Amino acid sequence: MIAKANEDLRTKILEGTITKLITIPASQHRIAVDQLCPVATEVVSALQQAGYMAFIVGGSVRDLLLGKKPKDFDVATDATPEQVKHVFPRCRLIGRRFRLAHVRQKGVLIEVATFRGSHDAGKGGELQDGRIIRDNVWGSLEEDAMRRDFTINALFLDPVGGDISDFTGGYEDLLERRLRLVGDPETRYREDPVRLLRAARFVAKLGVEADERTSALIPELAFLLADVPPARLFEEVCKLFLTGHAMRSFEALQRFGLSTAMFPALKPSGESGKIVADPLLMQALRNTDDRVSRELPVTPSFLFASLLWQPVWEIAQQDMENGITMHDSLLLASEPVFSKQSTRTAVPRRFSSVSREIWVMQARLQKTRGKRALRILADRTFRAAYDFLLLRAGQDTELEPLAEFWTKAQVGYKFPARKTEARRGKPSGRRRRKGEGRRGGRGRKKA
Ligand code: ATP
Ligand code: MG
Repeated sequence: MIAKANEDLRTKILEGTITKLITIPASQHRIAVDQLCPVATEVVSALQQAGYMAFIVGGSVRDLLLGKKPKDFDVATDATPEQVKHVFPRCRLIGRRFRLAHVRQKGVLIEVATFRGSHDAGKGGELQDGRIIRDNVWGSLEEDAMRRDFTINALFLDPVGGDISDFTGGYEDLLERRLRLVGDPETRYREDPVRLLRAARFVAKLGVEADERTSALIPELAFLLADVPPARLFEEVCKLFLTGHAMRSFEALQRFGLSTAMFPALKPSGESGKIVADPLLMQALRNTDDRVSRELPVTPSFLFASLLWQPVWEIAQQDMENGITMHDSLLLASEPVFSKQSTRTAVPRRFSSVSREIWVMQARLQKTRGKRALRILADRTFRAAYDFLLLRAGQDTELEPLAEFWTKAQVGYKFPARKTEARRGKPSGRRRRKGEGRRGGRGRKKA
């Protein structure tokens, strides 16, 4: 049984004024050795044999305790990156703002990060207006626990000894499905505003509830997202909407008042921080979740085509009333909408260009007469544009005959085989070096 800390004690622990180590033995947490990635276990034991402390940490421990399959396994150690390199001569040291070692064995990549200390002192840390822009101050195990974002992400599992070390009450929070920020909420959100989005994402993804301390300030600090590099926010949007819980992510963003800050191109609903929930977008998010659950590919292009359709269509319709063709109106409307959105999320051109094609092809799909019309079937964006037309027809019965025409047109048509742009859950088509994007922004990341 874990001692139930009284609220006072607990607040002090979370604020970091005291730390209290709780050790949870394997007999209690029940994570079995064979649930762990053998390579991660090997990396930990090699570090331990070399005389260092080493643990499996973060999302993988949390996911295992929740009965979910972890995406990847991360290791934290008191060895510096150079010392890690000594133990694994072939590892790569990466990252400037957040230095860490990439250890690759048997085709599996394990990120090995040195414990971080507090960033207000020391050579390796740098704060700017309260924001962490460099995070390379080494610290103790306790300090590393305290610098993590949420208590449920601050659990350290020793795969050799079997114990979990918990300095923040994260184990109890997990059992009670509670999301709690470690430390003083305002300071921690200002240090790295992406934590605002991470709160929404974990609520959506894990089905945990944010406690009052964690959620109360989110709406009023949402404006801080304007200072986060848009490339990092694009990655967060992909994690929110392309990993199987898009609908719940949308609800969480709305509930936390983060939607207007994330989607400046969309119409505010009038309620603080919320946008109008466009029915087409809602259906697109449900379809995306369905596709992910069936392991079908999903793409940032289609996601952004759906997210931004409402303002694009509104502007395009005005132009059409003024006699501009549907094709040109859609093309023209895409400019201001994408440029407004790109102040917050930098959608790489290879995706935004496909979103535009999906929109513009809505005009081409209107034309069904003659043999030439059918040439569109060979277009590489046809399937996506057709799926988009189905979405629109779901909201507008007048489009149903058109959708039906294109459904029938495909019968017996031999589509050319081609590689799909889509890679599920991956924001980029090119293979991102692990850690590159995530760590690329303001400092913070994994551990
Ligand atoms: P998922 O992999 O599902 O996105 P995760 O918790 O593993 O969730 P990562 O981004 O992989 O998230 O980060 C790994 C760990 O690093 C987290 O569990 C947390 O302890 C720490 N971490 C990541 N980002 C931050 C951050 N912005 N601030 C503080 N700690 C962070
Ligand atoms: Mg992770």
